[in-house]
Parts: sequence; C-alpha cells; structure tokens
Amino acid sequence: MFNDEVSQIKKNQNLFVKTIIEPFKIKSVEPIKFTTVEQRAQILKKAFYNPFFIHAEDVLIDLLTDSGTSAMSAQQWAGIMEGDESYAGARSFFRFEKVVRDLTGLKHIIPTHQGRAAEKILFSIVGKKEIFIPNNSHFDTTRANIEFSGATATDLLCDEGKNPDLIAPFKGNMNVATLEKFIKEHGRENIPMCFLTLTNNSGGGQPVSMKNIRDVKNVCKKYNIPLFLDACRFAENAYFIKLREKGYAKKSVKKIAQEMFSYADGATMSAKKDALVNMGGFLALNNDELAMNARNLLVITEGFPTYGGLAGRDLEAIAQGLEEVLDEHYLEYRLRSTAYLGEKISSVGVPILQPPGGHAIYLNAKKYAPHIPSHQFPGQAIVGDLYVRGGIRSVEIGSVMFGKYDEKGKHIAPTLELVRLAIPRRVYTQSHIDYVIEVIIESYKSRKKLRGMKIVWEPPMLRHFTAKFEII
Ligand SMILES: *Cc1c(COP(=O)(O)O)cnc(C)c1O
Repeated sequence: MFNDEVSQIKKNQNLFVKTIIEPFKIKSVEPIKFTTVEQRAQILKKAFYNPFFIHAEDVLIDLLTDSGTSAMSAQQWAGIMEGDESYAGARSFFRFEKVVRDLTGLKHIIPTHQGRAAEKILFSIVGKKEIFIPNNSHFDTTRANIEFSGATATDLLCDEGKNPDLIAPFKGNMNVATLEKFIKEHGRENIPMCFLTLTNNSGGGQPVSMKNIRDVKNVCKKYNIPLFLDACRFAENAYFIKLREKGYAKKSVKKIAQEMFSYADGATMSAKKDALVNMGGFLALNNDELAMNARNLLVITEGFPTYGGLAGRDLEAIAQGLEEVLDEHYLEYRLRSTAYLGEKISSVGVPILQPPGGHAIYLNAKKYAPHIPSHQFPGQAIVGDLYVRGGIRSVEIGSVMFGKYDEKGKHIAPTLELVRLAIPRRVYTQSHIDYVIEVIIESYKSRKKLRGMKIVWEPPMLRHFTAKFEII
C-alpha cells in the first residue's frame, strides 16, 4: 500500500472509529441462568432483602463487587499449573516477591489470603485504645479492623470529595491541612501511621493525585509518621493520574505506579482487585521490627512467610496479574467501560456520584429516592428494585453499611447514601452493560414507587453482610 493511502486510512479512523473495544477475546464461557420477575421477587423476599443472601446462580448480572470476580487470563491459568506448592521457599513465592518489590520498592513482602488479613495483622500490632489512624476514607474492613483493635479510624477526605455532584479530577485526595491539624491535636506519638486509599473505594472510586500523595508524605515526614497505601486499585489510580495530572501524560503507567509507591513506607493490598485474581493479598513494609512482628503473627494466623494464606499457584497468578494490570490498553478499556455506564445513565437524568470512578458507578440514592429518609435505607430499596426488575445485583453504601446509633439508639446517617454498581474486571461485554443501562433507566422512571425498609436483625459489626430487612 502507498504511504498516502495508509495516512488517509489513519485519518479516517481517527474521525470515525471511536469504540474502545475489549482488549481480549473470550476462550472460556460460563452460562448465565435466566429468571423471571416473579421468581426474583420471591428470591429477594427469602433473602430478607439483603443482596448478600441471594445465591449467585439467581443473579443475571452481578455487580455486587469487583473483588475477586475478575476473569483470569490464559497466562494466569498457565501460572496455576506452574505453581510450586513447596511448603517453604517455593519458586512461586520468589516470583511473587520480585514482582511486588519491583512495583512497590518495599523491603518486606508478606503474602496474606486477602486484604483484610494484612489489615488484621498490621492493626493487631499497632492498634490499641489511644491510637488514631487517619485515611482519606477508610474502607469498611480497614475501619472494622482498626476499631476492633480499640483504635480510632478517622477519614480526612478533601471537601471536593464530599460533594457528589461536583466534577473534579481527584476527589479521592486527603485534606492535607486537616491532616496536620489532626496530628497536632492527637499527638504524633498516638499516630503510628497515616493511610491513603487508592482509589478511594468508600468515596466513589475516586483517584488521589500524585501531588496529594507527595503533600501527605511531606506532612508525615515532618512528624516522622510512616505513610501506608491501601493499594487495592493502584493501577486504576495510576491511569487516572496519567489522564488527568499535568506532567504524566507521556509516562508509562508502571513508572507512575512506582512513583506512587516511592512515597510509601508500607502498603496493604487486596489482590482480588488490581492483581486480577480471585483470592490473595499482601502486606509490604520497610520497617524491620514491624515486619518481624507481622511475620510472627502471620505464622499463627495465615501460614509460613513464603506462602501466607495462599497456595503456590495463587502466588503465580497474582504475580502474572500484577504485570497484566499495567497494560495500558487494558486500563483504557477498564476506565472507559465504567465511564460508559455512568455517562449513559446520567445523560437521561439518573443521579450518580460524579465523575464516574474507576471500578464502579455509584447511584446517588438521596436524589434517586428523596421520599425515603436515611433511616429507612433508600439505597437498600434501590438495590432490591434493580434485582427484581433485571436480576442485577448491586450493593448499598450508605446508612446500611456506615450508619450508627447514638446513645439513645437513634440512627446517625453517613454523609452520602449510595448504591454501588461495581464492574468485575474482564467479565462483562458492552451488551451486558447496555442491558444494565436499560434496567436502571426503567427503575429510575418508576422511582416514586420505591418503599423504605427497616432492619429486623443485625450483627454487632459489618452489618451490611448479614442484616435482615423488611419493607415498611
Ligand atoms: C477490598 C478492599 C479491602 C479489603 O480487601 P479484602 O481482600 O476484601 O479483604 C481493603 N481496602 C479496600 C480499599 C478495598 O477495596
């Protein structure tokens, strides 16, 4: 072909070919079971209106979580066969350790069976009554592990992050001035570490800028407080930095991720997110004494330090996944396909938390169902409606998940009432998402019929997993 022909084709393509395709083809499929509206209404009632009690088989499109629901690649499955299952010093551990160290630059790499196991070990060591742990926003398991140790978990999110309608590039940022005030108020000696969650899951999957990581690090350094990253979605965060932050457009995502970790003294990670596996996690840190204490606890709760709570094959799949997740075609598709869902529904007026996050779209339940007060769980009502209408499973992130009681037993609502639609990685195609869009628009049109809920049973902690509801 002549050069001018090639350049003409390229020019036309830039004009007309806009679809960002799934950067993979499908080799193995799982059938979806179809159910009727009547069946789903029955199923939901039997599940006490809690999506965690619905059998996965009875779900058509499962947007409950992006955690552990990724489709693994052929190379990851090959790694499953390659796994070295030796008790101590397995080859798979050293591959895992090399990949994590190359990415994070951290000295001690401790495998755990998932993110919360890393949190449990860390906060069992540093947590006690007079201790405070600041974060942009604590994820629910992080908060629970901190509070279980007796310590206090504090969110210091920037003001932009608290306004669900505001479009801003880095709504996951921590308020740096408040952090400094917080340290002065509670005393450096009572703050064993500061956390940053990337991206900010509880705050809408919003990214944290490199500048904010650097600024937080500088404050931490001034007071000699280690900075830890909750790195579950580090790759999505790094790609947002590439797209949105000045000076990063031409840098590789891997370089950006490495820079993010270069400010950290430690990290916890759930490999069930950006390591593209179904189970796994790690704790990584520089402090030798803390690492020794962590390994001592690891042996009695998870396993020997070269496998933690994992099989050798899991470590192989994590190592492979951590390399694949930095593929920029994958990340472009990942962030675009999430934004696609958000843009389509918000363009017809469905209120969502803006702008779309990396791994999920969050419906703004306060605006969606303004006739249902917080103590009657508007988000939970929407979750039920999406399931009955379309077999879509979502999760409430609002008064059910974060609501508390005052001394008189009166409900204290969190700032936001959200419903999260989390997108599993590499699992659903665009037509699945188009179907989800249709169901949500239909539900929104009938929103006035939604009814409030009440809790008839709840456990003392993390109640959203097992609480039982009734319609009022
Ligand atoms: C999922 C998650 C965790 C906990 O990880 P698990 O593997 O589910 O135990 C911690 N922090 C954040 C931000 C998460 O998204």
